[in-house]
Amino acid sequence: MAETAKQTREFQAETKQLLDLMIHSIYTNREIFLRELISNSSDAIDKVRFNALTNQDLLEGTSEFEIYLLPDEDTKTLTISDNGMGMTYNEVIENIGTIAKSGTKAFLQKLKDSGSATDNELIGQFGVGFYSAFMVADKVTLVTRAPGQAKGVRWESIGDGTYTIEECEKETRGTTIILSLRAEYCSPENSEENFLNKYTLQNLVKKYSDYIRYPIKMNFINEEKERDSEGKIIEDAPVVKTTEVRTLNSMTPLWTKNKSQITPDEYNNLYKELFHDWEDPLEIIHSKVEGAVEYTTLLFVPARAPFDFYQREATSGIRLYSKNVFVMDNYKDLLPEYLRFVRGIVDSPDFSLNISRELLQHSAQLKKVGKNLEKSVLKSLEAMLSKDRAKYERFWKEYGKAIKSGVYSDFSSREKLQDLLLFPTSSSDELVTLADYISRMPEGQSVIYYATGKDRSSVERLPQMEILREKGIEVIYLLDRVDEFAIDALSQYNDKKFQSISRGDLKLDDVSSDSKKETDELSKENESLLTAVKEQLAGKVADVKISSRLKSSPVCLISDDNGISISMEQILSEMDKSMFKARRILELNPTHDVFKALKNTFEKDANSEAFKDYCELLYGQALLLEGLTPDDPISFAKKVASLMAGTK
Ligand code: ADP
Ligand code: MG
Repeated sequence: MAETAKQTREFQAETKQLLDLMIHSIYTNREIFLRELISNSSDAIDKVRFNALTNQDLLEGTSEFEIYLLPDEDTKTLTISDNGMGMTYNEVIENIGTIAKSGTKAFLQKLKDSGSATDNELIGQFGVGFYSAFMVADKVTLVTRAPGQAKGVRWESIGDGTYTIEECEKETRGTTIILSLRAEYCSPENSEENFLNKYTLQNLVKKYSDYIRYPIKMNFINEEKERDSEGKIIEDAPVVKTTEVRTLNSMTPLWTKNKSQITPDEYNNLYKELFHDWEDPLEIIHSKVEGAVEYTTLLFVPARAPFDFYQREATSGIRLYSKNVFVMDNYKDLLPEYLRFVRGIVDSPDFSLNISRELLQHSAQLKKVGKNLEKSVLKSLEAMLSKDRAKYERFWKEYGKAIKSGVYSDFSSREKLQDLLLFPTSSSDELVTLADYISRMPEGQSVIYYATGKDRSSVERLPQMEILREKGIEVIYLLDRVDEFAIDALSQYNDKKFQSISRGDLKLDDVSSDSKKETDELSKENESLLTAVKEQLAGKVADVKISSRLKSSPVCLISDDNGISISMEQILSEMDKSMFKARRILELNPTHDVFKALKNTFEKDANSEAFKDYCELLYGQALLLEGLTPDDPISFAKKVASLMAGTK
């Protein structure tokens, strides 16, 4: 039974502890109090609406639901009122005086474990419901009446461990919360945290509560002079004040509607508004999932990657909502890093407002949601690739590198990504998929050939390309620095191994069986010469060989099948990881005049300066052909000069 007289009661011990924290900790994100109170109002309206389905009387004649914000400069109070379910006397004691919520309990436990009560970060990660009001108010008054009750209940606390409670008059159904704001939260000087400022409040509603299903209203006072019949302002007329009621939230969470009821424009506008983009998204993925985990998701692939997309630290554009209430921005762990360009929202009743990032990370449900999201993004990319190649190529231009980095950094996604890869090749100006490549391989070709370089023309001029061009074999060009890492990680596609044209044995035997025999014979014949060149270049190359891949160039540099390649060595050394070295092999073209000259010099005098210089020059050339600088450019240039002048 309700008491009529005013009573002073103590908060439950845990509540006291929480209040203390709220008030005394340096909490950086105090503005969330408004989100918490509005979401409570919304819950209370949900409740009365639901109960009224079976009991019309609860509505007491009003079925227009609303939440009102009322900032008052004179009393320095911010009032939030709703016409929801309200609370009875005992419900107030139960709901407001004690902590029943598991989220808050977990929060307190976490605080105890961490041992520091002012851990900013930690507190910032939690939503803490009603008590967050004490972060900005030094007195909180709650007046509430449940439908059907003759009297209302007035609850008040200054957050000192006790509260008062008494019966009172309240005409309308629902709850009104009056916050007596602390001086620093209603000062005009505090531009961002002045919670009496209507525009601050408006922005907060937009940010956190835009998709609350009930209107959140506020009065704006317009001051204007009267106008004449033509609509012109009458200069000497007195100023007239009119009150305009504005609804601050847009209320329609587009994603909860059926796909068929949403126009492309609506999707595009929502995207642009939420993510501050001026361009329509390239792709929209909207799905609703019901079952063990329940969620709605609306994802976008922006038309353009941010200019610093590949330099900056990975962020995410995923926002979490719980039943239309904003919970968290930039939630990272939902999608794998290689999909970090995807933006959008995930709304699930399973995300509680009272949950921390840490708890979310360990949530099995969220992991499941994440897996599903990854799957649906990949599915929509696959569909784009097969149905709208031009669009996919636009996608690829922006985000191809991210997908390729996924191939080497995300082991579990490797297989799923291989069919999304596109490459330029020697045979066409168009990009090809690995499946395209395989489908047009000539009979007898057993591997997928690739070449690395900084652009198409430098790859095309590589001496190693000569034999493949002659034989009409298509070569995939790896022009991005991530490419070779990705190809290395894949190592094969549909049982076909990847083969660099600059590494080891080219496996062209099937294509031309006699050339290998010829090379073997020449190698034997020139064994002493090859050994001598190798000695001259000791420490620079691991081996010197007769080449079967060169046609018109005198030399080339390759790396053997084990270890890293020369191009990877370059990338790693730019990344200051120069401890990795490729095993370099110098290959000589036995049909070239330079080879004959080398041989002559060697046979004349194997210890001559001229022979030494030739070795240096050949190696220097091979480096230049790879786009590398000779070890000693000055000495290289001098040797070339004296060769030209005929002084040697
Ligand atoms: P939660 O919303 O997670 O339950 P809160 O601390 O935000 O936790 O609120 C505690 C309880 O107080 C709510 O569960 C609800 O029963 C009650 N309550 C708070 N605000 C209102 C309101 N505006 N109308 C009715 N009941 C409310
Ligand atoms: Mg709440």
